[in-house]
Amino acid sequence: MKKIVIAIDGYSACGKSSTAKQVAAQLNYAYIDTGAMYRAVTYYFLQHFINPTNPRGVEDALKKIGIEFHYNAKTGANETYLNGLNVEKEIRGMAVSERVSEVSALPRVRHCMVELQRKMGKKKGLVMDGRDIGTTVFPDAELKIFMTADFDERAARRQRELLDKNQLVALEAIRDNLAKRDRIDTTRAESPLRKAEDAYVIDTTHTTMDEQVNMILHMAREIINQEEFQNKG
Ligand code: C5P
Repeated sequence: MKKIVIAIDGYSACGKSSTAKQVAAQLNYAYIDTGAMYRAVTYYFLQHFINPTNPRGVEDALKKIGIEFHYNAKTGANETYLNGLNVEKEIRGMAVSERVSEVSALPRVRHCMVELQRKMGKKKGLVMDGRDIGTTVFPDAELKIFMTADFDERAARRQRELLDKNQLVALEAIRDNLAKRDRIDTTRAESPLRKAEDAYVIDTTHTTMDEQVNMILHMAREIINQEEFQNKG
């Protein structure tokens, strides 16, 4: 069966990661959460007091950062490892969320992560989610999705997600964080968040997770069948 690359980009808290994870599981594809990679770099910077405005410090830090994903059979999820340590919990907290967009806007950080993402995704049969996957990391991806949702709905979802992880964060703080990240992510000079010209837009404000997953699976299967048909012809 022909294997493709599915790029899912969009704003924070639109359901990108959960959707991407389920699409990958249904197709038996690998799944890579690139947001987790930028979060791991940010966590390292915080832990080691790296000043993002010091190019030398950033360069040295990047040489020391190793990021991997390992499958956890108990949770059924890929978890993020930074230099051999599981940092899945640490990278999802507000301390990292507060700084991640600033760190991700650094061209040196982006070049390093994009290179790693391309290496990780060398084999087709991949779902990757982020901000610049369809525009920069895999501009030739066979299927590109751009996910968006109403701002209030995104904030409420993020608050529920954090609560599920036993973190109670005020809605106002979450709204401020999402607004700040939207602003930095869409206006940075290096590969800003934007819809690729050939991406399909999915607004998840009123859709269920199953609907989102099925929409993408339907599109993916059409493309896979078409490619199989062309290869036979
Ligand atoms: O997806 P998530 O919300 O975890 O991403 C955290 C942050 O990482 C984003 O707000 C953005 O600043 C950065 N990011 C990025 N490029 C990606 C994925 C995430 O700049 N491909």
